[in-house]
Amino acid sequence: MLPPAAAAAPGAEDPTAQALAALRAEVLPCTRCKLHRERNQVVFGEGSPNAEVLFIGEAPGAVEDQTGRPFVGPAGQLLDRILVGAMGLQRSDVYIANINKCRPPGNRAPEADEVAACLPYLRRQVDLLRPRAIVCLGRTAAQNLLGTTEPMRNLRGRDLAYAGIPVVVTWHPAYLLRDPSHKRETWEDIKRVNRLLGRPEVPGATPG
Ligand code: SF4
Repeated sequence: MLPPAAAAAPGAEDPTAQALAALRAEVLPCTRCKLHRERNQVVFGEGSPNAEVLFIGEAPGAVEDQTGRPFVGPAGQLLDRILVGAMGLQRSDVYIANINKCRPPGNRAPEADEVAACLPYLRRQVDLLRPRAIVCLGRTAAQNLLGTTEPMRNLRGRDLAYAGIPVVVTWHPAYLLRDPSHKRETWEDIKRVNRLLGRPEVPGATPG
C-alpha cells in the first residue's frame, strides 16, 4: 500500500494509470506493421497499474482479437488458475501484456519485423509499470524481451533481468494445455516468482 504522502488524492487517478491510458490511446490506431491489416482489435494489455508482477505472452489469439483483452481464451483461463493456485492472486492484481499487440493470422508466431515494430510499446509499458518481477510466458516472449536466441531449456530456472527487473521464464499456458507434463516445471518457476516478491507459499498448492 502506498504511504499517505504518495497516495493519489481522492478522485485523482493514479499517474501510472493515466500514463498507461495515454499510451493505450496512442497504440489503438497503430499501423506500424502488417498485422494491423487483419486484426479486429489491438490488445494493449490490462491489469493493475501498481502490479508487482508483469506477465508477458507472445501475441493475441482469436478470442483476444475479438475482445481486445489479453489471455481470455482457454490459455488465459489456465493462467488465471495458475495465478490463484500458485500465487494467491487475481488477474486484477497483476498486469498482462504481449510482445505483439495484434493477432498474427492463423496464430502463427510474430515475424521479426512485426516484433521490431511493436516491442517499443511493451518497453514503454515496462518503464511505466516498473514491476518487481517479469514473467515471460513461452519462448517467443522470452527471446524477444531479452534479445536472445537461447532455447527454453537454457532460459528456465536462470537468474535473468530486463532493465534491472528480475525475469522468470516459464512455459506458455497454451503449451501446457497441449502438454500438461510441463505443469510441474511451471509450478517451480512460479515459486521462484513468489520468492522474488517475498510472497508466502500458497497452502495446499499443487500443479494440477
Ligand atoms: S502488432 Fe504492434 S506494431 Fe503491429 S500494428 Fe499492431 S500495435 Fe502496431
